[in-house]
Amino acid sequence: MNISKFLWKDGKRLALTSCWDDGTIYDRQLVAIFNRYGLKASFNLCSGKFGLTAEQSGWKEFIRADEVAPLFQGHEVCSHTVNHPRVWSMPIDQMRWEVLEDRRRLEELVGYPVRGFAIPYNWPTGQEWCREFVQSCGFKFMRNSASIPQFEHPSDFMDWHPTAHCSADLPALWASMLQRNQDQPGQLFNVHGHSYEFEDDWGWEVIESFAKLASETAGVYHATKGEIYEYITAWRAMDWSLDGTLVRNPSAMPLWILRNGQVIKIESGQMLKLE
Ligand SMILES: [Zn+2]
Repeated sequence: MNISKFLWKDGKRLALTSCWDDGTIYDRQLVAIFNRYGLKASFNLCSGKFGLTAEQSGWKEFIRADEVAPLFQGHEVCSHTVNHPRVWSMPIDQMRWEVLEDRRRLEELVGYPVRGFAIPYNWPTGQEWCREFVQSCGFKFMRNSASIPQFEHPSDFMDWHPTAHCSADLPALWASMLQRNQDQPGQLFNVHGHSYEFEDDWGWEVIESFAKLASETAGVYHATKGEIYEYITAWRAMDWSLDGTLVRNPSAMPLWILRNGQVIKIESGQMLKLE
């Protein structure tokens, strides 16, 4: 039997996504680098921090509410609560407000449904505890901050582990993904971190050179976390006959497969008879 394999949008074999927390002013520099190289990312923002100076926040300076929409144009805005509290240590009623109110405010600023969430602070065990709650607030995916150095699609978008933190040796991991890609198309490279880390710790050249490397690799789908979520979800929702020769795409977007070495596009709503 011929096997149909996963391909990304436009028949691409690889995808790169990333997400960045907190919304400090260093997001401006990160977005500028990503825009220069055609990378896309998701930004987890705390609406209660917008416009705070370093003095007011007691830490860093934050981007302003009025720059959220233009700055992240072409990228994606996700929620990180209103005030960045330790959500597991507060009354559930206030936690509800932190999560829902942030989503409401962000949607008002960007003009599209906010689908992604990241829990403040590195608290991997909190994912289980918060999961149902965050899902009930309408979020479609939630980042788990514990990296797993692999390139697989998440089995559970509410427990979405990144491939690596931005301090990892990204070029080495990239090379290992390219190696696997030779016989396993559909690899996903997913980075997380904070833009201020490049200012404080790693140096901007680290992310700039990685962005350049990724942009020069052929066949990479550069996408936000939401776009990755959307594409994989649509791909998984295709209808197949048991023998694998009939496929129907009920989604609103075209999807791609690799079959007998051939790249095949399945249009939205189309049913195909395959060889
Ligand atoms: Zn944070």
